Amino acid sequence: MRSLPLVFFPPVLNCDLHCHSICSDGLLPAESVARRAAANGVDLLALTDHDSLDGLTAARAVAEEAGMAFVNGVEVSIEWGGLQIHILGLNFDAADARLDSGLAAIRSGRIERAQRMAADLERVGLYGTFDGAMALAANPSLISRSHFARHLIESGVCKDMRSVFEAYLIPGRPGYVEHRWATLADSLDWIHGAGGVAAVAHPGRYRLSRADMRRFLGEFKDRGGAAIEVMSGSHTPEHIEVYSRLAREFGFLASRGSDFHGPNESYIDLGRLPSLPDGLEPVWQAF
Ligand code: AMP
Ligand code: MN
Ligand code: MN
Ligand code: MN
Repeated sequence: MRSLPLVFFPPVLNCDLHCHSICSDGLLPAESVARRAAANGVDLLALTDHDSLDGLTAARAVAEEAGMAFVNGVEVSIEWGGLQIHILGLNFDAADARLDSGLAAIRSGRIERAQRMAADLERVGLYGTFDGAMALAANPSLISRSHFARHLIESGVCKDMRSVFEAYLIPGRPGYVEHRWATLADSLDWIHGAGGVAAVAHPGRYRLSRADMRRFLGEFKDRGGAAIEVMSGSHTPEHIEVYSRLAREFGFLASRGSDFHGPNESYIDLGRLPSLPDGLEPVWQAF
């Protein structure tokens, strides 16, 4: 009888390093996000709310109780080349004062932006969207386009998140208002200053030409950025291929994150993405 060679594979960890709670534009409290991740078999979780560290303590406590590893996370909103881009900070010291005040600076102005969005929407006949969106935001300082989107769906203006963003909330549409986010340099200084690792969130989502994407990734790397999200809830199989190749070429670590915002809204649930493609070095090896 032919015997098979005995090969030991390292265990594949189920890591989910991108998700949201009601501390930003998610639908569940931070505790519930961590509980759901543990129930879905996640081995290592990072909660990455937009521009806020508020949910980390609560999520960590639940993770510890459930025997699930947890690292601090945040998704920082920046502007680069006229686009809003998201940079994930992972495994940093949440008590770092400069990171904290940097994030506070990004948050300030969101309420005023929301007022301008509502005023813009009135011009196309949609009234009361500021109050409607605010009523859905547990944390008013993190009022976001997602809250406007949910309000417009609830009030029957649009049928789902995709169509409401397409019609009202992306550049060129009546509810879209420019906002001053952080710079790439600032976001990386804050994350690195707090001892964290930086990863480009869902690179497939940005409307950058191939040349501009390479310029962006080059600048990110020159400033010490270490990783890109290869597996993301918003990536197509083509995106996964393209960003696997770019990760190898630029020498980036690879990250995996569902970008879960809530049940019935997100493309994929916590911990349910396929594993990283072979041959990529996982970002969690740097933790
Ligand atoms: P804001 O930070 O207020 O600009 O809102 C950005 C948030 O809106 C993102 O974090 C996503 O959760 C959501 N979002 C942006 N674009 C889309 C889209 N095309 N479809 C669904 N959700 C989107
Ligand atoms: Mn979001
Ligand atoms: Mn994002
Ligand atoms: Mn996100």
